Amino acid sequence: MVLYSLFQGDFVVQEYKLHIGGESRDSATGETFDNINPATLENLATVQVAGSEDVDRAVEAAEEGFRVWSEVPAPRRAEVLFRTARILQERKEDLARLMTEEMGKVLPETRGDVQEAIDIAIYAAGEGRRMFGETTTSELKDKFCMTVLRPIGVVGMITPWNFPLAIPGWKIMPALIAGNAIVFKPASDTPLLAIKLVEILMEAGLPPGVVNLVTGPGGSTGKAIVQHPRIKAISFTGSLETGKWIMEECAKTMKRVSLELGGKNPVIIMDDADLELALEGVLWGAFGTTGQRCTATSRLILHEKIKDEFTARLLAKTKLLRVGNGLLPETDIGPIINKAQLEKIERYVRIGMEEGATLLLGGKAIDPGLPGYFFEPTVFTDVRPDMRIAQEEIFGPVLSIITVSGLEEAIEVANNTRYGLSSAIYTENVGKAFRAVKKIEAGITYVNAPTIGAEVHLPFGGVKGTGNGFREAGTEAIKEFTEIKAVYIDY
Ligand code: NAD
Repeated sequence: MVLYSLFQGDFVVQEYKLHIGGESRDSATGETFDNINPATLENLATVQVAGSEDVDRAVEAAEEGFRVWSEVPAPRRAEVLFRTARILQERKEDLARLMTEEMGKVLPETRGDVQEAIDIAIYAAGEGRRMFGETTTSELKDKFCMTVLRPIGVVGMITPWNFPLAIPGWKIMPALIAGNAIVFKPASDTPLLAIKLVEILMEAGLPPGVVNLVTGPGGSTGKAIVQHPRIKAISFTGSLETGKWIMEECAKTMKRVSLELGGKNPVIIMDDADLELALEGVLWGAFGTTGQRCTATSRLILHEKIKDEFTARLLAKTKLLRVGNGLLPETDIGPIINKAQLEKIERYVRIGMEEGATLLLGGKAIDPGLPGYFFEPTVFTDVRPDMRIAQEEIFGPVLSIITVSGLEEAIEVANNTRYGLSSAIYTENVGKAFRAVKKIEAGITYVNAPTIGAEVHLPFGGVKGTGNGFREAGTEAIKEFTEIKAVYIDY
């Protein structure tokens, strides 16, 4: 396979087919889409669009795959996951470079993304020896009671573009160890990494049909998965709007659905905080991955006593960030994923100014000498908690500063959105830290650390508009992909 690299002159744009039943298959639609590098606007690959007929074939193949895979003991399934982790490790650098080309984030971050996939593969493989149910007592004599975990069957997975290996990994590895078969649709902006992951799973010895890849737009390919009558569950990560629609659709066929949606993550900086530590946390929380993380820091809730000093120091550090091609070592911040997203960020900057917020820095697209989609790190101050820029997910490098006079007000502001994914507080006072942990409405709270940086053995997910109660990663992920059965044995 020829992989395009920025530093190679000639390259071949390959056309990628669907992966169904262990084989490369042409789609029935005959349609394709281009996979564009958001920094250079070059076409990395052409990818086939799966239609509903292809999704049907993928479900059929997955049902066959499920018959085989669900009979394999979990510790044996784990061997495939361990081999997958090993191959990912061997190819880590190539995959990271390809990911930077495909979606723009800088190399240290794409290396981290590949590492997350490796970590979850190893973690889930370990869970293969811990697929515990429970034994319990009975009201009756000579009766034995226990619970056992069973796989769900064919599961549909729909993923976003910002973590092209980590998020599919968080879904696929736990689902596989639990014995399910999968129909997987990645985001249209990042099909290549999904193709690579499925190739690696097959190379690691996964039986045909256990993971099937259908590429294409959400509105057609994704919709066909969500509405398919024989898919038993949907695992979705993406925007709130799409998630709501999926939940409604799943209700019609009583499908299980797990939703990991957007965020509007607050960081509270108290007046007793270690400001140097907090500055680093805010800088990378807000502008790392160009702000395109579900856990990105988008609201900076500052104690009034340190507002001026902290703001001045933050602006000084932000001005030093270098925006450009993520493949280059001097780049801190890569491009925005596509034109529509860039225009959305521009719209929100206009909204912020119309609402009366003060633009301190950035606010516009820039040209670092490449034709792609680049935006300056942007900081607003004088933001009121009810402004749209403080309420709605922008998904770009835009930070809103809100000033408060104490902890209780800070917590009230932190909780004043429809989302509840990540959150953070910087303080040297342990009492204040525990108060925030107790009162902030979020799936994750960091103390003296940024809103980003999840580890695979802890549950990941949010409350309120961010999700519907399921958690990814950690032992909770097994619950997402298993049914529990109560067993009564009379003897
Ligand atoms: P999106 O909702 O536009 O798309 C996500 C996926 O859903 C894509 O694969 C897309 O093709 C598909 N899709 C779109 N419409 C569909 C439909 N009608 N039916 C079925 N599938 C459909 O989101 P995005 O722009 O790709 O990703 C950004 C969003 O994802 C942000 O809101 C971000 O916060 C969220 N996100 C959440 C988490 C989390 O774990 N909570 C992690 C990463 C990203």
